[in-house]
Amino acid sequence: MIRFGPSGNSDSFYEEGFKSSVQMPAWLASKGLNAYEYSCTKGVKVGEATAREIGQQAESNNISVSIHAPYYINMSSEEEDKRENSKRYIMETLQVAKWMGAKRIVVHTGSTSKLGREKSLELAIQVLKETLQMSDAAGFGDISICPEVLGKHNQLGTLEEIMEMCKNDERLIPTIDFGHIHARGLGMLNSQEDFEKVIDYIENSIGKERAKRIHCHFSRIEFSKGGEKKHWNFADKQFGPEFEHLAPVLVNRQMEPVIICESRGMMAEDASEMKDIYYGILENQNLF
Ligand SMILES: [Zn+2]
Repeated sequence: MIRFGPSGNSDSFYEEGFKSSVQMPAWLASKGLNAYEYSCTKGVKVGEATAREIGQQAESNNISVSIHAPYYINMSSEEEDKRENSKRYIMETLQVAKWMGAKRIVVHTGSTSKLGREKSLELAIQVLKETLQMSDAAGFGDISICPEVLGKHNQLGTLEEIMEMCKNDERLIPTIDFGHIHARGLGMLNSQEDFEKVIDYIENSIGKERAKRIHCHFSRIEFSKGGEKKHWNFADKQFGPEFEHLAPVLVNRQMEPVIICESRGMMAEDASEMKDIYYGILENQNLF
C-alpha cells in the first residue's frame, strides 16, 4: 500500500505538548498518516531502549518507519578510511533500524569533488556491495538500503547515478527526492508529463516491480545554479514542484511508494495534504 508521512517531527507536535519521538507513531496515526522517517542525519545517537520503544509504538499504530542515515557518509571519498567509516555509519544505522523495526534506511552516497563522476560512482558502488555483505553477515539482510537522488551538482546522486547503483542488487531501493530532481534540473518538473518521464526512466532501469515500491521524498524547493538551496513548505507556492503533477502518475500506475515529506516544520501537515490529493484523484477515478 502507498504510505505518507513526515521526515522528523512537525512543529505542531511540540506545540501540542509532545516531547519525545516515542510519542510520534500514535500522533501520526491520529492524523491519518502511516509512515515516519526517523532522522539520524547528524549522527546515530539513539539508544537501543528508545529505538525499540519507537518500534513498538510504530507497530501498534501501523506506522512504517524508515531511518535517514548521517549526512556525512561519503562512499566515494578518495580516502580509504573515509569509505571505511561510511560503511560503519551505515551499519550503525542498520542496527538502529533493526531495533526500530524499520525496513528501509536512506543514505546520501557522497560527493564527486576530486575524482570525477565516473570514478566516484565506481567507488560508491564498491562500498555499497561491501556494505550489503556486511549487512547480511550481521543479520540485517531484511532491511533495504535506499540511496538518495541528491540536489546539488557536486553531490554524487543524479537520477542516472542512483539507478546505476541500484542495478547492482535487487535489495537496493532508490530514494527519489523529487525536490532534488527539480533543483538539479533547475526547475525541470512542471507537468504530469515531466513526472511520467522520471518514472519511465526508473522502470526502465530497475524494472516495474521495484519501481512500484520506491522510497520518495517530496517538498517544494528553492534552487540556484549549483542546484538545491532550501526546502520550503507547501504554502510557499512560488517554489515547485507540485504534488498534483505526481499524484495522477502514482494512481494510474498503481504504484505503492513510501512518500516522505521534508517541508520545514510543516512536514506532517504537508504529508496529509499529499495524501488528500492522492485519495481525491483515486476516488474520482473510481467514480467513472
Ligand atoms: Zn536526504
